[in-house]
Amino acid sequence: MKTVKCPKCGSNNIIKIIYGMVGPEMGEAENSGEIRLGGCCITDDNPTHYCKDCKTEFLKEKKRK
Ligand SMILES: [Zn+2]
Repeated sequence: MKTVKCPKCGSNNIIKIIYGMVGPEMGEAENSGEIRLGGCCITDDNPTHYCKDCKTEFLKEKKRK
């Protein structure tokens, strides 16, 4: 796994943002701070990661279709 660092504060205290419909296990994962739920609205510019230190959502890499 690649280490993701926050572009703002440089922290590696980063979690993934999950979009779309999620099951109960995803809710538990969010509660324990493993992931962040981004809702079901998906756009091309959606942030993919979230810094728990400075509470910034950011886009790690742009996806191309
Ligand atoms: Zn940060």
